[in-house]
Amino acid sequence: MALCTLCPRQCNTDRESAVGYCGQQDGIRVARIAPHFFEEPPISGTRGSGTVFFCGCSLACVFCQNKDISRSRNNGELLSDAELYARILALLESGVHNLNLVTPTHFVHRLAPILERLKASGDLRVPVVYNTSGYERVETLRRLDGLVDIYLPDFKYFSSELSARYSSAPDYKDVATAALAEMLSQRGRYRYSEDGELLESGVVVRHLVLPSHRKDSIRVLGHIAATFGTDDLLLSLMSQYTPDFALDTPYPELHRRVTSFEYSSVCKEAELLGFDGFFQSRSSASSEFTPDFK
Ligand code: SF4
Repeated sequence: MALCTLCPRQCNTDRESAVGYCGQQDGIRVARIAPHFFEEPPISGTRGSGTVFFCGCSLACVFCQNKDISRSRNNGELLSDAELYARILALLESGVHNLNLVTPTHFVHRLAPILERLKASGDLRVPVVYNTSGYERVETLRRLDGLVDIYLPDFKYFSSELSARYSSAPDYKDVATAALAEMLSQRGRYRYSEDGELLESGVVVRHLVLPSHRKDSIRVLGHIAATFGTDDLLLSLMSQYTPDFALDTPYPELHRRVTSFEYSSVCKEAELLGFDGFFQSRSSASSEFTPDFK
């Protein structure tokens, strides 16, 4: 590939010979391919979401719960395009409800042709989920138009000070807003299956409430509601923050779980603003729900 500008870092790395900010070279490196049961209910369903967890990440938050794979350069398995295609087919044959690409941004140049081939083959009879940090370039998302059915982006921060401190991305809010606009323009209003059990198409915005920062969460929700309204997208409000992955950071405010008060105050704001979607049980704040990548 040419010098890489796939994600908003636009670090212009020659990934044939060097590693980008995302920690990856050109070859697709995958940490786990398996049914996963801890996504939102209409995505996990009863048979699981068909997840492909990619190694590397262009955002690299200090509290990431998947650090084993997002920050390590050599974990996981290097797969050719043909091998990944075959593994995806095997995953689909297991009966999963969708194909869920987790942290795929830095491999879109390889994934888009694979998705095109899958769609053309008739073997892909379930929705494709694009599961992302929300830190996306609009130009890259446009490459996925017609290939992705459900966008599952995070919207992590309103404050540029917070996004700079925890993710080295002071432009996060503006970038994520433009990305969300593109996702909504591609998919439109969300749509469920006829029986109402599974999501077939649309955009689900995830927001993880961080300890000590409930006011930023409330500003995130207000910003999304004011910019996009609350009718077309679903909100997934997450309480699953676990401090285990941030204990080695110099941010003591992240060294604890989110309190019930913090989470419930954000939930109340979501209800007041009229969001539809998903709240998480407080018992989800456990590293047990993080897949084992070893
Ligand atoms: S995807 Fe990786 S290599 Fe490409 S611009 Fe982003 S951080 Fe750099």
